[in-house]
Parts: sequence; structure tokens; C-alpha cells
Amino acid sequence: MNIGVLALQGDFAEHLVMLRHLGVETREVRLPSHLDGLHGLIIPGGESTTIGKLAVTYDLIRPLRTFAQEHAIWGTCAGAIFIAKEVYRDQPLLKLMNISIQRNAFGRQVNSFVHELLVPALEQPERPFRAVFIRAPIIENIGQNVSVIAELSNGNNSIIVSARENRFFATSFHPELTKDDRFHRYFLEMVEEG
Ligand code: GLN
Repeated sequence: MNIGVLALQGDFAEHLVMLRHLGVETREVRLPSHLDGLHGLIIPGGESTTIGKLAVTYDLIRPLRTFAQEHAIWGTCAGAIFIAKEVYRDQPLLKLMNISIQRNAFGRQVNSFVHELLVPALEQPERPFRAVFIRAPIIENIGQNVSVIAELSNGNNSIIVSARENRFFATSFHPELTKDDRFHRYFLEMVEEG
């Protein structure tokens, strides 16, 4: 299996380390030709406006949309923003996944935090996942065919922080910044399912 990581900006290196640790072939994607032969793609955290602008500069928007017609794509944090259909701001988006996202929903960098999430879809669901939130977005609304994968409870409210729509997957936090590889394994299963 060969998994690409969009390597325009952000913490792509941490995803590559995690994937190699899981015994998967990897490739940094910077140009349209780098998508050839890949089985899935991860779009890392970073700064979604920058990732979007660089994707425009490198003529990647159309090739990424074409790739998405047949392959699994996972966006973490800024990557989740980049694959969303609606983010209430004018910035280049792939508009793949039927979710609307509020950027920087928890405030600024200093308001970053770690939260233990219980995620039923993961292996060993009773073991909490230590999720790292850095200037994180939240998933405000989900469309038809989108299922909630993880929620953060906040008093009486639940905030959606991970969702899946068929072969598209979004997490508003950074599984690549922990040693826990369960989200990466979950994505590799999605890729295998085709
Ligand atoms: N706040 C960033 C954005 O809006 C995302 C932060 C992250 O990826 N950690 O793009």
C-alpha cells in the first residue's frame, strides 16, 4: 500500500513517520504527478489558507479532486478544513466533504489543549485517545451520509471533532502528534475497503 501525504505546508513529516512505522510505503505530494499510483492521501495540519493557496499555485486543485473520486482522503485539522464544503470564509477549498467547519473555534494558539476522547470506531474503544487540539476547528454541521466518529462533550453540548463520509475522513485534532496509531490504522482500513 502506498499512501501520500500532501507536503505543501504543515506537519506532514509526522504523518510520514507514523505511516512508515505501520509498514506502509509513503510519498510526499507536492505536484500533480506525485498522486500517480497512490492508494490514499492524508492532508496534514498547518494553516489551511496557506495550504489552499499553495495548492492553487502548484495546480493541484483539479488533480486532487480527480484523485478524490476514487480514493480515500483524510484531513487532519487544517486538512479537514481544506476538504470541507463550507468554512464561511473566502479561501481555496477542495469542497469534497459535506461538512461545514468553524475555523479556530476554540480560540488562539494559547488555548490549545489535549482531551481524552472515547472513539467507538477505533480498536480498543474503551481506551481513550489523547487528542491534541491546536487552534482547532470544529465540525458545525454534517450533511447526509456523514457519520460522526468523535465528539467532545462540553457541558450539555457535544461538539463534533471527527466525521466520515464514505471515503472522506476528517479529524479536527492531530493524531500524528501522538504515539497512538489507532486513527492511522483506521484510515488504512478505509483505504483497503476502497
Ligand atoms: N487554525 C488552522 C487553520 O485554520 C488550523 C490549525 C491546525 O492545523 N493545527 O487553518
